[in-house]
Amino acid sequence: MLTEEHRMVRQAVREIAQKEIEPRAAETDRSAKFPYEALEILKEQGVHLIPLPEEYGGYGSVLMSCIAVEELSKACATLGLWLLVQGSVTSCLRATRNEKTKDKFFRRMTEGKVGAFVLTEPDAGSDVASMKTVAQKDGDEYVLNGTKCFISCGGVADFYVTFAKTKPEAGLDGISAFVVERDSPGVSIGRIDEKMGLHGSASAEIVFRDARIPEEYLLAGDGGEGMQLAFAAINPTRVYVAAAALGVAEGALEYAARYAKERTQFGRPISEFQGVQFLLAEIAMRIEASRSLLYRVATMLDENKEGVPGFAALTKCFVTEKALEAVNYAMDILGGHGYMKDHPLERMLRDVKAFHFTEGTNYIQRLHVARAVLKGTLRD
Ligand SMILES: Cc1cc2nc3c(=O)[nH]c(=O)nc-3n(C[C@H](O)[C@H](O)[C@H](O)COP(=O)(O)OP(=O)(O)OC[C@H]3O[C@@H](n4cnc5c(N)ncnc54)[C@H](O)[C@@H]3O)c2cc1C
Repeated sequence: MLTEEHRMVRQAVREIAQKEIEPRAAETDRSAKFPYEALEILKEQGVHLIPLPEEYGGYGSVLMSCIAVEELSKACATLGLWLLVQGSVTSCLRATRNEKTKDKFFRRMTEGKVGAFVLTEPDAGSDVASMKTVAQKDGDEYVLNGTKCFISCGGVADFYVTFAKTKPEAGLDGISAFVVERDSPGVSIGRIDEKMGLHGSASAEIVFRDARIPEEYLLAGDGGEGMQLAFAAINPTRVYVAAAALGVAEGALEYAARYAKERTQFGRPISEFQGVQFLLAEIAMRIEASRSLLYRVATMLDENKEGVPGFAALTKCFVTEKALEAVNYAMDILGGHGYMKDHPLERMLRDVKAFHFTEGTNYIQRLHVARAVLKGTLRD
């Protein structure tokens, strides 16, 4: 399924990740600080450009972005998450018909500016229609009020693709999408979340108090367009989330396989015990099945195939759950050592669980899959 170009990009990202990212991953987890230094290295190497459209120096390909997210996440899930969020923001900007603002923010992203996808609220998670953030037109500006939460990269982003109601009575159809600059008056970063994993990802509350947004920053208005823009991003983003989880599982397998060859018990490397070999096989089966599914659905997205929503939900759900199982098995291979912070498995286990919730819980994904089955759209 991969071309020579995919393989070249994969090799390049893999080398940077192994040399520059992986050695910093434990410290990022321990300090819970966003890894700016590692990000600078990725930007110097042009990794931030990968998800962007071709005219902005990227590849304009979901599959290519998945490969990059996967490789980064193998080394450090926090930076895999950074790139997947940039992929998500890219999908939102691609979907707008507001060419001027699209161009402005794509240019910023080429300079390495960080975007965030800002949808969830304390009382509106799965039920997006119940969001309370409102944007009221006032002359040639919108005035935003509300609080968003759990926003990945929220504490470090330069701008936010934000969803707010311009017609509160119209449910999902009343939602519009905007770009909001972090430095706008009335915009502030609230609580930085203390999480089980993904410690460096600067998940944050974003608070809007009479924040004034120029009208030209409207990406999609109400009447259904705002949610359409969100949906344009949600399908590729679900696939990027799967890529991140897969990367973590691959990192866990590589580590556990190396460890199994080095660790001796009863006078032999533990890799010679059939019980340990069975665990390695369990992990490898999950990874290979997941990767086949992931690349197939990423290709469907690149080719604008029908049936994507059901497949994207199915992929996100399946791959993230198999990844958690895989990392858990990998920890078992290390025995009690795997539970200790001397090894990366306990971090990987904490990190990978997050992907069950991001971009919609896996139970919500199951609802989408079931709907696609019942409608007969789960086919390519
Ligand atoms: C690490 C992390 C990063 C995140 N990053 C972002 C981000 O960058 N931007 C952003 O906007 N959001 C982000 N989120 C938020 C994420 O999208 C939400 O957590 C998710 O959509 C679920 O919402 P909730 O947590 O409010 O759960 P709830 O919606 O309150 O759900 C609670 C439980 O009820 C179940 N449930 C709810 N409704 C139904 C239903 N109709 N049928 C069956 N079961 C149902 C859910 O499956 C879940 O088990 C992030 C979350 C995490 C954990």
